[in-house]
Amino acid sequence: MNKKVYDMLIIGGGPGGYTAALYAARAGLSVAVLEKLAPGGQMAETPQIDNYPGFPDGIDGFTLGQQMKESAQRFGAETVFTQVTGLSLDQEVKSAQTDDGVFYGKTVVVATGAGPRQLNVPGEQAQIGRGVHYCAACDGMFYRNKTVVVVGGGNTAVADALLLSRVAKKVYLVHRRDSLKASKVYHRTLEQTENIEFIWNSQVTEIQPGKVLLKNLQTSNAQEISVDGVFVAIGRTPATWLVKGLLELDEQGYILADESTATNLPGVYAVGDVRSKQLRQIVTAVADGAASVHQAEEYLTGIAG
Ligand SMILES: Cc1cc2nc3c(=O)[nH]c(=O)nc-3n(C[C@H](O)[C@H](O)[C@H](O)COP(=O)(O)OP(=O)(O)OC[C@H]3O[C@@H](n4cnc5c(N)ncnc54)[C@H](O)[C@@H]3O)c2cc1C
Repeated sequence: MNKKVYDMLIIGGGPGGYTAALYAARAGLSVAVLEKLAPGGQMAETPQIDNYPGFPDGIDGFTLGQQMKESAQRFGAETVFTQVTGLSLDQEVKSAQTDDGVFYGKTVVVATGAGPRQLNVPGEQAQIGRGVHYCAACDGMFYRNKTVVVVGGGNTAVADALLLSRVAKKVYLVHRRDSLKASKVYHRTLEQTENIEFIWNSQVTEIQPGKVLLKNLQTSNAQEISVDGVFVAIGRTPATWLVKGLLELDEQGYILADESTATNLPGVYAVGDVRSKQLRQIVTAVADGAASVHQAEEYLTGIAG
């Protein structure tokens, strides 16, 4: 049986992956993007992006994701909606095992991004999607006139609390410190929002249907609040389980690669949020996507390892 070998396989269809796809396809390489959900990655979770240049009124992340896919498609990049379940990266022809068979590539760009960090408390796993959520923009609408709790103290938690305050009757914001890490720009809006109540110095110890159990970290006192939904916003974690043991990772689990995006394996590149870097944003993900194709072209023509 003849197997198709792409010049480039891209794992993940966020901004990093689709920029690599655009650059590669436009350079005449055959490319397939393997994406498990929908184009856009994390961008698709936000209704308003104001810091990606070229959109004076901002743009919603779902549309931007679709447009990035179409830009790459225009030059022949293919998208296959499938989950990659395993990778073989140390041969000249590399492969990705998926729910829909095996795909082969001379180069591989890992663009799997990052996902929400979980609380890892009893009751969380069992209620994901049915009371426990990680994206207020996606799931907040289920809680019209209900009571919810947001866990976290950074920008995402505060943005989630504000968004939910417009939908829900009451929003608790539980944070393990006594002040927010979130940018000052949010503070005045928060103070003016009457249906948000802060619960400081506290962490969630358990989630039960209809209630959340808390522990005050200063007094060790336990508290129980009745809520309809829990929104966890305590940061992101890199989606690197696929490459564990194959690629070198840093101590936080991100793929070790510098601005060139080259990893420890020839012909394998890491772009976007999954790579060890300082700033994880759309603009830095797209920059990585372009850099990876520059490296891959040199590798394919035998100039670089
Ligand atoms: C709510 C929210 C709001 C944000 N707002 C902004 C903003 O305003 N401005 C800004 O610059 N940045 C923003 N960001 C950050 C920005 O979205 C990310 O930095 C950027 O999306 C990272 O792009 P990426 O391509 O590296 O990965 P991601 O966007 O994470 O995309 C990774 C893709 O890989 C896919 N994938 C993962 N594993 C597999 C697998 N095994 N098989 C197949 N596919 C897989 C995922 O489904 C996903 O589509 C926001 C993020 C969030 C969560």
